[in-house]
Amino acid sequence: MVNQAFTVDLNKPLVFQVGHLGEAYEEWVHQPIVSKETPRFFANDIIEFLTRTAWWVIPLIWLPVVCWSVFSSAKIGLSPFQLATTVVGGLFMWTLMEYSLHRFLFHIKTKSYWANTLHYLIHGCHHKHPMDGLRLVFPPAATLILLVPFWNLIKFLAPASYAPGVFGGGLLGYVMYDCTHYYLHHGKPLKGVSHDLKRYHMNHHFRIQNKGFGITSTFWDRVFGTLPPHSSKKPS
Ligand SMILES: [Zn+2]
Ligand SMILES: [Zn+2]
Ligand SMILES: [Zn+2]
Repeated sequence: MVNQAFTVDLNKPLVFQVGHLGEAYEEWVHQPIVSKETPRFFANDIIEFLTRTAWWVIPLIWLPVVCWSVFSSAKIGLSPFQLATTVVGGLFMWTLMEYSLHRFLFHIKTKSYWANTLHYLIHGCHHKHPMDGLRLVFPPAATLILLVPFWNLIKFLAPASYAPGVFGGGLLGYVMYDCTHYYLHHGKPLKGVSHDLKRYHMNHHFRIQNKGFGITSTFWDRVFGTLPPHSSKKPS
């Protein structure tokens, strides 16, 4: 096949190249380049800019939206207790979304040109360049698009006074997830939960990529049986 002869030129914008790898894409994308450099994705400067996000942009943009949502539920008349349970409910819902998105969408197997390209943009790039600090958190422009169906789903499922609170809790969960994910790659926790989670996530990147999908906890991996072998043993 022509596809097999294709090699990606790492010195040229990457995104429109990776699709040509065809069936070889899956293997290519899981061979990481461990460098803190930020490779060029698009030739177009504006689109390129939109693919580069510093981690602190995430709380800066989304925490005000979290506050605004939670206050909306408060204004409608939820008691502090109801409000707290609603936000915690949203947080918990996020942890399941974090797990499902990472397992079923981010790790979907692709081989056609556009499927490879899309996969690379969503999660492939993070596995190819796991230490690229500007391609780790989710670009706000993309998050904004995803929040529309997310909000509509919540509005459909939850009573009107609870919906903004659940939404705020879910979004708070997302912010915590993205910041945790960044910290697991670039922080150096020496002990405790964060050290164990870092080890757990590095295992997902560098040893067993189809196990260990949880980032902020191992809870759903336990529930759905996707714990990597040995990860329950005491970390060294
Ligand atoms: Zn992954
Ligand atoms: Zn992957
Ligand atoms: Zn990662």
